[in-house]
Amino acid sequence: MATPTAIWIWAEQRNGHFMDVSLEVLGAAQELADTVNGTTAAVVIGDQVADLAKELVAYGADIVYAVSHPDLALYQSGAYPRILAELIEDHGPEIVLMGSTSIGMEVAPAVAARLKTGLTAHCCELELKEKEGRPKLIADVPGWGGGIRVQIVCNTSPQMVTVGLGVTDKPQRRSRAEGTIVNVPVTLSESDLACRTVFMEETPPEGIPVEQAETVLVAGAGMKAAGGVEPLKDLAGLMGAAVGGTRPVVDQGWIPQSGLIGASGKSIGPKLLITVGTSGANHYVSGITKAEKVLAINKDPNAAIFNICDMGIVADLTEVLPLLQEELTKQK
Ligand SMILES: Cc1cc2nc3c(=O)[nH]c(=O)nc-3n(C[C@H](O)[C@H](O)[C@H](O)COP(=O)(O)OP(=O)(O)OC[C@H]3O[C@@H](n4cnc5c(N)ncnc54)[C@H](O)[C@@H]3O)c2cc1C
Repeated sequence: MATPTAIWIWAEQRNGHFMDVSLEVLGAAQELADTVNGTTAAVVIGDQVADLAKELVAYGADIVYAVSHPDLALYQSGAYPRILAELIEDHGPEIVLMGSTSIGMEVAPAVAARLKTGLTAHCCELELKEKEGRPKLIADVPGWGGGIRVQIVCNTSPQMVTVGLGVTDKPQRRSRAEGTIVNVPVTLSESDLACRTVFMEETPPEGIPVEQAETVLVAGAGMKAAGGVEPLKDLAGLMGAAVGGTRPVVDQGWIPQSGLIGASGKSIGPKLLITVGTSGANHYVSGITKAEKVLAINKDPNAAIFNICDMGIVADLTEVLPLLQEELTKQK
């Protein structure tokens, strides 16, 4: 009988808490495994991870590989990929999924390079199909500068992908879930810690986090015409909304990385999303498909954003935003 397809995830933890996207990819692993009667496994690395390992079982992992060491309490760029790659090599899972957090975006390519396999980054949809007797992961990503969506199939093993926050759903936590926890002994060498993380500080999000807000205003590169994103932040204050941004706006430093919307940022599903001065590139649009209503403001009537929005205003944002602000202030 053929061995069931093993789908693994790396469950990233910081300060004893899982990143939300790690639990979401565990949910994705379960959904994929269900389609082929496969199994799921999660790897957790840190210090004193026994409780975290139990959490992963509660969230549905069939097997948890728990790697614990005082020197692994913080992410270590040498040790983490080395340990993960060796575990994967020893057990040979068919598929490995990771969240595309800032650390995940470093770990995933480092592991893929060690294993000499392919990595599909920032997937926005995953599907498993049997091809030539082998389960093949079909990963959708925005490609060619974001103009089209492409499907990538990896011909080497394991098939590795990263997925952003909000692309898949977090599974239900079940207190009576059953799974096996394997404590993996670890010995660290000098080279594992040649470059050592000694301190980590997270920048808290400004205002309401974009993934939690009912209304989100997204600033695009067109906001340059307004001299920056301040007018949008003022509007958000009046509406009780969160402010996110596209890649150029985040690169400009106007919106923090935690507010990046799209394939390499977050996928969000607010009730109302107002997207201002964004062209509608697929890398961005893949992050807003779950929004209930999208209002786009752009001065170019041919902008691709008008193909996906529910309501559109073709106008200069420097004229529209003050009008909106005036109306909302009157209503206060
Ligand atoms: C691997 C990869 C991953 C990526 N991931 C992401 C991602 O996660 N998120 C993301 O956003 N991007 C991502 N990108 C970049 C993406 O492809 C686009 O380049 C980006 O989304 C464009 O941002 P924009 O729409 O703000 O800017 P632009 O494409 O420059 O559009 C600006 C728009 O503003 C309009 N405008 C200008 N002035 C005004 C005005 N006065 N009034 C009204 N409208 C105006 C213009 O008509 C234009 O349509 C990624 C790219 C790659 C290669």
